[in-house]
Amino acid sequence: MSSQQRHLQLPLRLSLFISASILLATASANAGEYLNGIKWKAPEVVTPGKTDSAPPSDAIVLFDGTSLKDWKNGERWEVKDGVAYSGKGKIVSKEAFGDCQLHIEWTAPVPVKGSGQGRGNSGVFLMDRYEIQVLDSFNNPTYFDGQAGAIYKQTPPAVNAMRPPGEWNTYDIFWTAPRFDDDGKLLSPAYITAIHNGVLILNHFELKGDTPYHRPPAYQQHPPTGPISIQDHGNPVGFRNIWVREFKPAGGEQVRKPFIRDGKKETPIED
Ligand code: MG
Repeated sequence: MSSQQRHLQLPLRLSLFISASILLATASANAGEYLNGIKWKAPEVVTPGKTDSAPPSDAIVLFDGTSLKDWKNGERWEVKDGVAYSGKGKIVSKEAFGDCQLHIEWTAPVPVKGSGQGRGNSGVFLMDRYEIQVLDSFNNPTYFDGQAGAIYKQTPPAVNAMRPPGEWNTYDIFWTAPRFDDDGKLLSPAYITAIHNGVLILNHFELKGDTPYHRPPAYQQHPPTGPISIQDHGNPVGFRNIWVREFKPAGGEQVRKPFIRDGKKETPIED
């Protein structure tokens, strides 16, 4: 073979390769459609709020600025100009929730008083026992797993996304409740994802148990649903626009094995 022939051969090989690739791609595109064999239920239609902070149509509103009637001990907290202020004991939602999405807005007290854990301290407790910390963490050093957005004594938030005292903070919390068997053995832990002022601070964090001050975290069997509570830590933290949505994943039933449909031919996919 002359060197000229070799030069000619390379483009020819390349074009043959490309033609073959196209043929193969076309063949696989025509080989049929993958179907997973699941009969899905139609997802429920939910009408979103006017803004992403407003409750969607399926939300349970726990505080709309008027009263704390949906909370035990709510009558002891001050509600003024649409804002509820922590004080005189924790408040506990009358309704109980399992897996859920929780939206809550809060503002640290002005004028600023105290320091560390003593400045704007409150807390949102899922199932009345797992705390995501509420604290004025704007230029207020404290132990990191106790600052705003921490799962108390378990993990700090990934970042500090605080707004200054007097401005409103939002938490959007996505909660997976722990599961226990009938004997109280933990089947799966709790998980939390949280967004603080639009910033992801906890991503599917696995809780080690509850969040007390005085002992290590531990799981103790409890019902599959539990109330949301808000801490009174002696500081008048303001709260507004609290709503929750129960969360259920899309429903479906595996009615047959996954298969490939090619015209009228259906070929099951073997495991
Ligand atoms: Mg607290």
